[in-house]
Amino acid sequence: SERTLVLVKPDGVARGLVGEVIARIERKGLKLAALELRTADRATAEQHYAEHDGKSFYADLVDFITGGPLVALVVEGVRAVPAFRQLAGGTDPIEKATPGTIRGDFGTEVQFNLVHGSDSVESAEREIKIWFPNL
Ligand code: ATP
Repeated sequence: SERTLVLVKPDGVARGLVGEVIARIERKGLKLAALELRTADRATAEQHYAEHDGKSFYADLVDFITGGPLVALVVEGVRAVPAFRQLAGGTDPIEKATPGTIRGDFGTEVQFNLVHGSDSVESAEREIKIWFPNL
């Protein structure tokens, strides 16, 4: 089986969607391997979003992700990486995510798109080390 790093971002926590996201993960047949509520420090956020350093939205993204408590999870199961990407829906909640997905059902703005899921197995292993170095 495979592992992926999931974040319920600060907007998702503020909107009370943690249970909703976890319910969808569990109903899909994926397992929770780690789960923590925490406020990310800047170093963690900058490492996590290193690939976006230099983009126009990078500073806002780091401010946003460090701006309140989030829930970080390691999710495990058969093809966990694409399986969670499917549950999340496309990055833009209106233009890309379809109804039935987390972003499609609950999101409106691309910056406040509620969840993160690793985009590849390699990204997942990199991100799991950042958020759960002891796992
Ligand atoms: P994530 O990495 O959070 O799962 P993603 O892989 O679907 O999202 P990326 O293209 O990696 O999308 O963008 C990372 C995050 O940056 C997005 O989830 C979103 O919060 C933010 N973002 C992306 N594009 C924009 C934009 N044009 N304006 C503002 N924020 C953006």
